[in-house]
Amino acid sequence: MSLTETPFACVTSQYEAIRAIDPDLYELTVQETRRQAELVRLIPSENYTSSAVMQAMATVFCNKYSEGYPGKRYYEGNEFVDGVEELARERAKKLFGADHANVQTNSGSPANMAAYYALMKPGEKVMGMHLPSGGHLTHGWNVNFSGMLFQPVYYGYNETQGVTGLNPETGQLDYDELRNIALRERPKVIFAGGTAYPRVWDFAKFRAIADEIGAYFVADIAHINGLIIGKVHPDPVPYADVVTSTSHKAIRGPRGGFILCKDRTMIDNPEERLVDRIDKAVFPTLQGGPHNNTIAALAVCFKEAATEEFRKYAEQVVKNAQALAQALLERGFSLVTGGTDNHLILIDVMKSRKIPGKPFAKALYEAGLETNFNSVPNDPRKPFSPSGIRIGTPAVTSRGFTETEMVLIADWMDRVAGSCHKDGKNYLFDEVALRKIRAEVTDLCTSGKFPVPGIDF
Ligand SMILES: *Cc1c(COP(=O)(O)O)cnc(C)c1O
Repeated sequence: MSLTETPFACVTSQYEAIRAIDPDLYELTVQETRRQAELVRLIPSENYTSSAVMQAMATVFCNKYSEGYPGKRYYEGNEFVDGVEELARERAKKLFGADHANVQTNSGSPANMAAYYALMKPGEKVMGMHLPSGGHLTHGWNVNFSGMLFQPVYYGYNETQGVTGLNPETGQLDYDELRNIALRERPKVIFAGGTAYPRVWDFAKFRAIADEIGAYFVADIAHINGLIIGKVHPDPVPYADVVTSTSHKAIRGPRGGFILCKDRTMIDNPEERLVDRIDKAVFPTLQGGPHNNTIAALAVCFKEAATEEFRKYAEQVVKNAQALAQALLERGFSLVTGGTDNHLILIDVMKSRKIPGKPFAKALYEAGLETNFNSVPNDPRKPFSPSGIRIGTPAVTSRGFTETEMVLIADWMDRVAGSCHKDGKNYLFDEVALRKIRAEVTDLCTSGKFPVPGIDF
C-alpha cells in the first residue's frame, strides 16, 4: 500500500521537512504513525501524548545548553529556558502538592538512580519488589546498576528463591511480612512501586515500616502517576521522602522523568537538606545539560493533567480496566490477584488457557492487539517465556474507548486463545481467525469514532 492510499496521508503535511531531507526516516515515521493508530494498544506503560506535548518537544529549546538550575546556570542565554523549567517545576509541585520538584531526569530509571545517590552510599541495603513478582529493574535487580552497586533485599513471592511478602493465595502485598523483612534486614531505603502489580499500594503502611527502622521511603509512581493525579489511587506525597516517576506513562507526557521530595534534613547529616541532595544527584552527579525541549513538553503535560478533563480520564482508565478484567474472567481467563484496582491486568494465560505468555502475545499482535508477555509471581516458567501477559487501559482510554469496547477486546482475546492448538512443543494459532480479528480491530480503530491524540487522520 503506498502512503497516499493510507488513511493517514495527512501526516505528510506534518513532516514535510523530514520527507524532503530523509525519505527513509519519513517512511518509518508514517508507518509507525499508522501502526499506533490502527492497533489496539494495551501495553500498560504506553500512552498517546497530545499534539501540544509533541509540538513542545520539537521547539528550539532542543538547541540550548543549560547545565545547572534556574538562576544558577553555567551558560549565558538561559533567561527563557529558566522560565520553562520554572513552569514545569511549579506546575509539578502544585499538581502533586509536593515541597520540591526536579524535572531534569532523562527518564524513570535515571530518576531512581538519582534517588539512590541522594539517599545512600554504594554497598548499602535497598529493599524493593522482586522483579519477577512485578518490581522494576531499578529496585535492586542484579543486571541493573541498583543490584550491582547496592545490596538488594526483595519482597514478592517465589517459593524456590525464598522470597516472601505477597500472599500466595491472594497475590496481594502482605504488609506484616514486609515489616518482618524490614526489621530483619534493616535496609537504608525502601522502595514501593512496580510494573505489574494490579492492586493499590498502601503508602502509609510503607511509611510506618520505614519509620520503625529509620529508613528512607521512596515511592516510584512511574505507572500510576496519572491515577494519583486523578485521585483514583492513594497519594504517596504525604508519606514518601522521595517520589520518582516517568513522565510518559499514565500521565501522558513526553518520554522523561521527574522527582518530588520533602523539604527535610538527612538522617545521617542534619546539616544537609534532602532537596539539595536530590538536585545535586541529578546534576552534576548523573547528568550534564538537561533536555530543555522535554522539560517544555513536561510543562505542557502538567498543565493538561491539572484539568477536570484529565481527572475524568484517570477515572475512566480504572473503570475500563475493571470492565476488561470482569469480561476476561467471564471468558475463563485467570487474573493474578483476581482482578485490578488500577490501570493494569496480569493474566496467567498458562494457568487458565494452557498457552505461555510469549506465543499468546505474538498471536494477539497479529490480531491487532499490542500487549507484552510477563512473569507472574512464583512463575514456574523462565522470564523469556513466562506464563503471563500484561495489559492496561491508559492508551485505549486516551482514544475514547469505554466499557463497551472493553468487552470487544476481551472477546477478541478469547477468540485468539480459542484458535490455539499445541503441535509438539509449538503453539499454533489459526491464521484465518487471526486475520479476521485483525480486520475487525482495524475497522474499529479507523472508524473515526476513536481519534488518537496527536495524530490527525
Ligand atoms: C517504567 C518504570 C521505570 C523506568 O522508566 P524508564 O523511563 O523506562 O527508565 C521505573 N520504575 C517503574 C516502576 C516503572 O514502571
